[in-house]
Amino acid sequence: MPTFVDAVALAGRVRGPVLRPGDDGFTAEIAGFNSAIVHQPQVVVGATDAGDVAAAVGWAGEHGLPVAVQSTGHGQLSAVHDGMLITTRRLDEVWVDPVARRARVGAGVRWRRVIDAAAEHGLAPLNGSSSQVGVVGYTLGGGLPVLARSYGFAADHVRAVELVTADGLVRRIDAEHEPDLFWALRGAGRIGFGVVTAIEFDLVPVRHLYGGGIFYPASATAEVLHAFRTWVSTLSEQTTTSIALLRLPDLPHLPEPLRGRFVVHLRMAHLGGVEDGERVLAPMLAPMRAAAPALIDTVAEMPYADVDAIHSDPTDPMPEHHAGIVLRYLPAEAVDALIAVAGPQVDVPLAMVELRLLGGALARPAGVPNAASGRGGAFSLLALGPLLPGLEQVVPAVVSSVLDALEPFAAPGTALANFQGSLEASAGPYGSWSGADAGRLHQLKDRYDPAGMFGPGRFPTRPLSGAVAAGSA
Ligand SMILES: Cc1cc2nc3c(=O)[nH]c(=O)nc-3n(C[C@H](O)[C@H](O)[C@H](O)COP(=O)(O)OP(=O)(O)OC[C@H]3O[C@@H](n4cnc5c(N)ncnc54)[C@H](O)[C@@H]3O)c2cc1C
Repeated sequence: MPTFVDAVALAGRVRGPVLRPGDDGFTAEIAGFNSAIVHQPQVVVGATDAGDVAAAVGWAGEHGLPVAVQSTGHGQLSAVHDGMLITTRRLDEVWVDPVARRARVGAGVRWRRVIDAAAEHGLAPLNGSSSQVGVVGYTLGGGLPVLARSYGFAADHVRAVELVTADGLVRRIDAEHEPDLFWALRGAGRIGFGVVTAIEFDLVPVRHLYGGGIFYPASATAEVLHAFRTWVSTLSEQTTTSIALLRLPDLPHLPEPLRGRFVVHLRMAHLGGVEDGERVLAPMLAPMRAAAPALIDTVAEMPYADVDAIHSDPTDPMPEHHAGIVLRYLPAEAVDALIAVAGPQVDVPLAMVELRLLGGALARPAGVPNAASGRGGAFSLLALGPLLPGLEQVVPAVVSSVLDALEPFAAPGTALANFQGSLEASAGPYGSWSGADAGRLHQLKDRYDPAGMFGPGRFPTRPLSGAVAAGSA
């Protein structure tokens, strides 16, 4: 029996809106990027500052309500059906210190604002492929940046986290204050140790990069993927790259050569100047010239602020289901297996299957060690399908079939928390970690969230059997 929520009394404790299903503004307040996820909490609190978050969490604790958090909704994996949802979009402070090369941002900020604020000083944050993603949710999951191989995970550059814990206290967590929790939040933060209200991290001195995307036709799929596989083994840490098989919709906002087509999308971000970038890219391009000319090629020197052009991720809300694994290597058999399940010859409802090259700085521990997962992997594999009406059962099955086909090449007991996606439902929230790290996370979850207030259902305080197996691997 759900607890009765006295929204009027709760509203007396916070400054932001307090809404229940049916109230004006409720639907807009709970909406997020993944439109397949429709939350139905008993109450949603639109927090305006850390005080609001503390009051809402305190109230939830008094009334035994579970608490979930949403910023942009890019990372929601299942809908909330009871308890309280705290939305953070009004926590919108952005502060850049150009001398210390550091930023402090509120929990509702998207990367776009930080990119623009940092660019004024010749600096850049370690954002991912889409500047519409939220800074905090991304960083709590480790954060795989566009410059991943040069700088490592975004979580490796975090200096401090402001967090409201289950006891309703606002805490500053850093290397000196509660170092265990600082370790966990930077990579495993989505397990649910509290509600982050702000985060501080270092910026990097990057004004320009050489990069962009090259789209090839379906007929070149095998040549491009095999060339990519051999090319990446020659790359230094200055180059971050990925490749995606895209089934694009027939929509007018897409460039004509891509509309309604299956295409292969090579992405690259290189630090080291144009000449050096061209030299690095040449061995990848050469075999393609004979196989098939590119449909579109945007690779050029660009200001860092144009970084979205590398991946060209969708910006409008979409219903989707995704899951990912980390590969330990990519032999020719793995490429063939990928083409067999997701290539242009098969008729499957997949919007994207993506391989991102890991390694480089990602493989090194952070200066202050953290819980970012997938560090030792060679590639991230992500499969994503549109959850359109009629495809609700098919898409998860097809996504699983892609991961199953590549499973023989997977790195056991690890995953990138941000890309593990809907697997969390089966492997459990601890499925990205193994051994001592998984055990340490369980202990910290028990210490900081003993009643399992944060993330009930999605994030049980005890592992499911799959996660235990991974942990003991
Ligand atoms: C188009 C697209 C591109 C992406 N590109 C990348 C990429 O390049 N690299 C990468 O690493 N990831 C990438 N991701 C994954 C993304 O980083 C995760 O989905 C991330 O969780 C999104 O965070 P959010 O705050 O925007 O989303 P939300 O859905 O609002 O939040 C996701 C989860 O983060 C946690 N969370 C958010 N805010 C708080 C808070 N204040 N306190 C406590 N917990 C909180 C909660 O568990 C919440 O459920 C991408 C996702 C999409 C859809």
